[in-house]
Parts: sequence; structure tokens; C-alpha cells
Amino acid sequence: MHCQEHTHKVLIVGDKNVGKSSYVKRYVNGNFNYKQPYKMTVGVDFAVKVLQWSDTETVRLHLWDIAGQESFISMTRVYYKGASGCVVMFDMTEPSSFLHARQWKQDVDTKAMLPNGDPIPCILLANKCDLGMGCVSSEKIKEFSEANGFIGWMETSVKDNRNIQEPLRFLVENMLRSG
Ligand code: GDP
Repeated sequence: MHCQEHTHKVLIVGDKNVGKSSYVKRYVNGNFNYKQPYKMTVGVDFAVKVLQWSDTETVRLHLWDIAGQESFISMTRVYYKGASGCVVMFDMTEPSSFLHARQWKQDVDTKAMLPNGDPIPCILLANKCDLGMGCVSSEKIKEFSEANGFIGWMETSVKDNRNIQEPLRFLVENMLRSG
């Protein structure tokens, strides 16, 4: 039986401290280190996750987390190059990170595109939903997600292990359709 492997680059963007690297760690390794000291890595954290997509298909995800470069003013094009999907994350308890999600999405749309010129599929994640309702309401997030061309949005809690696999599964389904 012939086995097909697709490799895809997925960007994880959003303000500092919203939970991006915790998310990638949880998604890839299944653990959460809540006591992790504040880190300030400069560069890009890179992780690989291999999904058995079907009997004959494997999807290899290259996850690029912009560690410590979250001043969104200008991420270099190198970081975006060849990406076929993106996660924009904000912290539900931090309104400014929600405001900045628009800039992140715009940055992605201007610097990354599919070979046919279409924008790459992006999913919006409202993290830290374990901390109560947060300052950003579901209605606002839904409206924002639709107005800004996201394929969808989900509330997540990396801490409580809530909606960790689902968003990337949904994103990958979209990527495979559009790629
Ligand atoms: P990054 O700068 O976006 O990569 O954020 P980190 O992954 O370093 O997380 C920033 C802080 O938020 C850390 O102290 C994490 O432990 C914490 N954190 C991440 N996800 C959650 C979550 O879902 N709930 C709560 N309460 N804290 C979280």
C-alpha cells in the first residue's frame, strides 16, 4: 500500500504571554508546565507533530512559534515563507491581546499566501478560558472572527487541556482542502 506524507508549515502567532509556547508543548508533548519561569527566547521555536490522517496518509506539521519576537510591527517574511496555515492566539483575560489579533491577522495576510494567491487558512484561539469568562465576550470573538476572515475560532485552556487537538485538526482539514 502506498503511503502519502504531506508536510505543512503552521505559524503560531499572537502577543507575548498569551500561551503560544505552552500550547505547542501541550499539543506536541501533552504536558503543561504552569510554573515555567518567564522566558524570553529570541528566535523561533520549532516543533514537529506527525498525524496519522488516514490509513494511507500522514500529515507532518512543522509548528513555528515566534518565541520572544512578538512585537508585531514587523515579523520577517522568512518566518512566514511557505506557511500553509496559521493559529492566531490571544488571551481572553487580556483585551489588548485581542485588539492585536487583528494586526497579527493582517500581517499574516500580507506576508503569507497560498501558491494560488489566496490567504492561508487561519484559526483564532481564545486562550485561558479557565480563568472565568474573561474580558472578551463570545459574541465579540465570533463577530471579529467572521469579519477578519478566520476559518473559525475556539476557546481553549492549555492549562486545563481543553480544545488542544481540535483546533489543529480543523485547521489541517482546511489546509488539505485548500492546498
Ligand atoms: P507565549 O509568550 O505566548 O509563548 O506564552 P507562554 O506559553 O509562555 O505562557 C504565558 C503564561 O501563561 C505562562 O505562565 C503559562 O503558564 C500561562 N498559560 C498558558 N496557557 C494558559 C491557560 O490556558 N490558562 C492559564 N491560566 N494560564 C496559561
